[in-house]
Amino acid sequence: MDTFKQRQPAGRRMPRPSRVEHCTRCQAVLGLHYRECPPCYDAIEGLWEADWSALLEREQIVAGSEDEALLAQVVLAEFDDHSWTVVDMAMGRVRCEECNEELGGGPVECESCKFAFGKLWWHDTDAMQQGAMTANEHALRVGRYIMRHPHRYSRAVATGWRMNMPRLLTGWLPKGSDMRRTANLLKDGYEIDWDAMYREIDANINRGKERDDTR
Ligand SMILES: [Zn+2]
Ligand SMILES: [Zn+2]
Repeated sequence: MDTFKQRQPAGRRMPRPSRVEHCTRCQAVLGLHYRECPPCYDAIEGLWEADWSALLEREQIVAGSEDEALLAQVVLAEFDDHSWTVVDMAMGRVRCEECNEELGGGPVECESCKFAFGKLWWHDTDAMQQGAMTANEHALRVGRYIMRHPHRYSRAVATGWRMNMPRLLTGWLPKGSDMRRTANLLKDGYEIDWDAMYREIDANINRGKERDDTR
């Protein structure tokens, strides 16, 4: 029985910034305002868009067409054959049959969204073991979903990931212990001085000291 498929690396068509950059539009760290600011959105979404565009080109399908919507359905039906970026893009192009929101992004109570979303992670471990996905890429994937659908998460989780995302773009990876400490502080109602917390992290990233070379 040979159902095991080699997963292709994804999210690597676009060059990544090596520094934490600032957005020319909103002036915040680039990527922070994913939902509200087009350049912030593009800085993150571009990694996914590049892979999706390549698929459209290969299939000779025009973006925004009915064929594209159909392709998204096909991708989700044959889930195992596609890279994580392509699956994520397909999720954004399919409506949930139960709640009619973007699949995986509906209200917390929607079981179909919960199931569709939960299914995504089964494959990341495989992909990481095969070297087709780095831990940083997995974090980017998780971070994008949380930024896209923050209502599905606690404030602590949503804020922590939102703050990390502009840094993840450079290949940085937060320490699990730091993430847990921050989450606990937020949960207990403490205000976090984000600027102070990230000042040192950003300085290290910008000096090239925090790069995950396997990204
Ligand atoms: Zn911006
Ligand atoms: Zn739903």
